[in-house]
Amino acid sequence: MNLTEIQNKYNTQEKCLSLLEEIRWNGLVICPYCDSEHTRITESERGRHSCKSCNKSFTVFIDTIFEDTHLPLPKWFMAISLALNSKMGISAKALQRHLGLTYKTAYYTLMRIRIGMLMPNTELNGIIEMDESYFGGKPRKEGSPLPKNRPSISTNFTKRGRGTSKISVAGMVERGGAVKTKVLEKLTKRNLLAMLRNYATSDESLLMTDSFPSYKAMDSYIERLEVNHSKQFSKGMVHINTIEGFWSYVKNGIRGNYRAISPKYLPLYLVQYEYLYSTRNDKGNQFKSYLKNALSTDKQLEHWKAESPAEVKQIAYPKKTYKRIFKNFKNERRKSNT
Ligand SMILES: [Zn+2]
Repeated sequence: MNLTEIQNKYNTQEKCLSLLEEIRWNGLVICPYCDSEHTRITESERGRHSCKSCNKSFTVFIDTIFEDTHLPLPKWFMAISLALNSKMGISAKALQRHLGLTYKTAYYTLMRIRIGMLMPNTELNGIIEMDESYFGGKPRKEGSPLPKNRPSISTNFTKRGRGTSKISVAGMVERGGAVKTKVLEKLTKRNLLAMLRNYATSDESLLMTDSFPSYKAMDSYIERLEVNHSKQFSKGMVHINTIEGFWSYVKNGIRGNYRAISPKYLPLYLVQYEYLYSTRNDKGNQFKSYLKNALSTDKQLEHWKAESPAEVKQIAYPKKTYKRIFKNFKNERRKSNT
């Protein structure tokens, strides 16, 4: 849906609220605290329900990217629409100008929208290309003065390519399908293989890589073909042009919209490009399928408030145990509040 359609259709808090309730609950309201179906609507506040089993009250926002937000929902919907339709990414500054928000609100809203783009259960099949890329801007000469505020992603004094001290990111793409990336501390065989096992089904798939030695380890798990870049860039269907195209899409997007981003938040920017790329061919209502993904209950956390790079990474690459960890975390927080 484009911005005008969103504006016409979801111009009041009520209309937005009932869409969110429809997508999350589809007519059957379930208590987020005890999973009970015995709930009723309360009179005290629009959209508030209370549970007859545990007596707690809740809204559709709980445990989602909309939790504790002060931004009216119609503005949220427009922000989401802009983020989905800006295929190269949208900056907080641009969102601030479009919607008349403060910079801080625009920044945090975009961070939350990125969390809503997480697709934890991606599964890749068929022909899969795997490759790594290095993020950190152009290499600078040693001894050249550092910018004053250093945390930007473009302040590395290193060489290009493998062996650099830039941030290494591994990526896998299904030809004609979805893409999955992961920031890796070290590009080891073990890390790459773990990533492959996580996201690719091996039975009916064929892996394409270049001749980087670490990929040899993949042969134990999946059938693999490699192209030797020192000789040629493709051998018929054996190439990794798709994943290389994705890397340049991401890097152009970052360069054009964000200039430099904090390495800490790189995983969440990657999530955004992954989502925009993976849903590029989706027919049907992209706005609603975004909301559906964002409201699914297996990826909530104190997300955008993450303190450390490790936390951001844990959000962006949730493990299978993640849901359980989060539940414990929430329960503890609730206990300490009462
Ligand atoms: Zn309950």
